Amino acid sequence: MNEKLESKVVLVTGASSGIGRATALALSKAGALVAAAGRRTENLQQLVKEARGEILAVELDVTDRESAQRAVSTTVEHFGRLDALVNNAGLMLAGMVVGANTDEWVRMVETNLLGSMFMADAALPHLIEAQGTLIQVSSTSGRFASAGAAVYSATKFGITAFAEAVRQEVTGRGVRVVVVEPGFVETELTTHTTDPVMRDAADQIGQSMRTLQPENIADAIVFALTQPEHVSINELLVRPTDQVH
Ligand code: NDP
Repeated sequence: MNEKLESKVVLVTGASSGIGRATALALSKAGALVAAAGRRTENLQQLVKEARGEILAVELDVTDRESAQRAVSTTVEHFGRLDALVNNAGLMLAGMVVGANTDEWVRMVETNLLGSMFMADAALPHLIEAQGTLIQVSSTSGRFASAGAAVYSATKFGITAFAEAVRQEVTGRGVRVVVVEPGFVETELTTHTTDPVMRDAADQIGQSMRTLQPENIADAIVFALTQPEHVSINELLVRPTDQVH
């Protein structure tokens, strides 16, 4: 239990697996009231069963504006307020630009960039009311672009840019904005890539190092959320020690 999180209401997107799931569990363990959102509701129900504290499962497709609004209003109706949004839902479909399947670009932009903007739009009025915190999950790919990850990287640079502009708009109203930039974390993320060469390359990178676990990023998010109110951790870059770039 952490007294700074006790009874705080946190909505975590992409909580049906990986980093979001670990974050929802860590926040719940620390005493927060958690709304866990994603499309795979069966995974969310499993999460609810495993959690020590109260977790509300919320069906959400971030690419759908109305679904984003509904996820926030369901959370606020259930818990009475919203203190933090962990804007984590995301998708990586690695591939070269030349010869790309541009439908995959649309999916990444709609999920990672536009989806996280829709969530921020829905949550910000409540975060302003609560003097709460917006956590934007970006990536090392939001700092450094690389071949094979152009569009993913563009969405993550976009998330960071959006966060900094929002920060300037709301920091005077007591809202903290945090960008979290994980390095390689062992999750399902790379399994969605359809290009077999890219998927193999990702597997090899994963096997070449001691990767982060989702709990390592959850710990960083808990750290940012448990600072005194006048302390704003605006950026957290967390890499595996073995990761060079
Ligand atoms: P996962 O694939 O395990 O998790 C992604 C989550 O996003 C899932 O819970 C998925 O839920 C959710 N999601 C995807 N599309 C949508 C959608 N349209 N609406 C709602 N939720 C959606 O991967 P990670 O845990 O690794 O990824 C979490 C975040 O961390 C992502 O933003 C990713 O870019 C970022 N990140 C990950 C890194 C890594 O190495 N793993 C490194 C840097 C950043 P569902 O399918 O149920 O909707």
